[in-house]
Amino acid sequence: MRYYQKKLECISRGELRSLQSERLVKLVRYMYDNVAPYRKKMVDIGIEPGDIKDIDDLKLLPFTEKTDLRDNYPFGLLAKPMKDISRFHGSSGTSGKLTVVGYTKSDLKIWAQVMARSLVMAGADKDSVVHVAYGYGLFTGGFGAHMGAELIGSTITPASSGNTARQIMLIRDFNAKILCCTPSYALYIAEEMQKLGMSPEDIPLKAGVFGAEPWTNEMRDEIEKRLGITALDVYGLSEISGPGVSMECTVKNGMHIWEDHFVPEVLGADLKPLKYGEKGELVFTTITKDGMPLIRYRTRDICTLYDGKCACGRTHVRMSKIVGRTDDMLIIRGINVFPSQLEAALIRCGNIVTPNYQIIVDREGLLDRLSVKVEMSDEAFTDTVSEVERIRKAIEKEIHDALGIGAKIILCEPRSIVRSEGKAVRIIDNRKKY
Ligand code: ADP
Ligand code: ZN
Repeated sequence: MRYYQKKLECISRGELRSLQSERLVKLVRYMYDNVAPYRKKMVDIGIEPGDIKDIDDLKLLPFTEKTDLRDNYPFGLLAKPMKDISRFHGSSGTSGKLTVVGYTKSDLKIWAQVMARSLVMAGADKDSVVHVAYGYGLFTGGFGAHMGAELIGSTITPASSGNTARQIMLIRDFNAKILCCTPSYALYIAEEMQKLGMSPEDIPLKAGVFGAEPWTNEMRDEIEKRLGITALDVYGLSEISGPGVSMECTVKNGMHIWEDHFVPEVLGADLKPLKYGEKGELVFTTITKDGMPLIRYRTRDICTLYDGKCACGRTHVRMSKIVGRTDDMLIIRGINVFPSQLEAALIRCGNIVTPNYQIIVDREGLLDRLSVKVEMSDEAFTDTVSEVERIRKAIEKEIHDALGIGAKIILCEPRSIVRSEGKAVRIIDNRKKY
């Protein structure tokens, strides 16, 4: 199985545009009639449903932001009465108060379909065992992967997160072909395998569908090597549905956004849409949801969109890896720093360190101080002071070259940085306390 919905995945750009236009026109009328806070936004800027005639008019519409979800907590943005809402999910609260999303049966079906398309890209079919190690709960990861795999007809191991030794046993004994979890957890699984004396040949996995947090291509190489698999990136957020908003094909040249359901824009600092190829904030309009559709939702995620043909045959635009979120971006002494830049630099240091790290920012007087806790690998671990110092200097230089600012490197023992079973905690910003 190469595609899940071939006609839609390979639809011509012209047909896709008409479909989007038709759906947007209907959506705007629907929101105006059913979602009071959004109607108010439209009234405030003097725009009516009749003003929206095709997809190009999207730019005329007001934005929706995370604060809108919080201000209308819990049910203010629902477009359907509760009897039509089948399920709630919410953001894991990485940044602030929980946000709630309500899904109708139709929303869940669409989400399952886009996730099925995504898993098929990684090679899932009726004969595959799909091991889901994303958490099941309000967080969308577990259920999203689960529903997609179910729709394909794969066999699912709903392992959820936790108990890594048991995960490895289940992967091996149940003959899992596809692993779904966060990239940081995939790396953790690889480490645990190594501890158990297992090599990639000892597990049946062929591919991984990894997402829910930013990760670099350098991290991909590392995971692929250590698990002996093809590692692909999957992106999503609860506000828009969950994992499967976009998914990387095996060409590994960006994640295809399922544009028949989610229309992307990338905005510059002035909030004006940018052209393909330009980096900015990703914004989505859900044109087929009916439980809690969102128009021009500002994700705070930073990436670049690419059009043009993809060798896989799919026509949907591709988004680059997420460079970071605007709220993850650290400004250190006036310089923008994303954790992903540090991650790439650390992996370039080779096997003296592991890709587990934590960034600590403090303020001393008026000056920001950046420290990076870096974990030494078993291979490089040493008690010799001069050797530790040499390693520290090498890392310091690599990071300085990557960021353009200096950082204090705190070397720690192998496995001393706390592993996460879900999204990794990379930043400790102590400046917020002052
Ligand atoms: P939150 O993290 O805000 O609590 P979610 O669990 O819905 O809420 O997570 C959505 C966010 O996770 C996205 O906005 C994005 O920042 C991040 N994310 C999801 N998938 C990826 C990915 N493949 N690469 C980078 N970041 C991702
Ligand atoms: Zn492709």
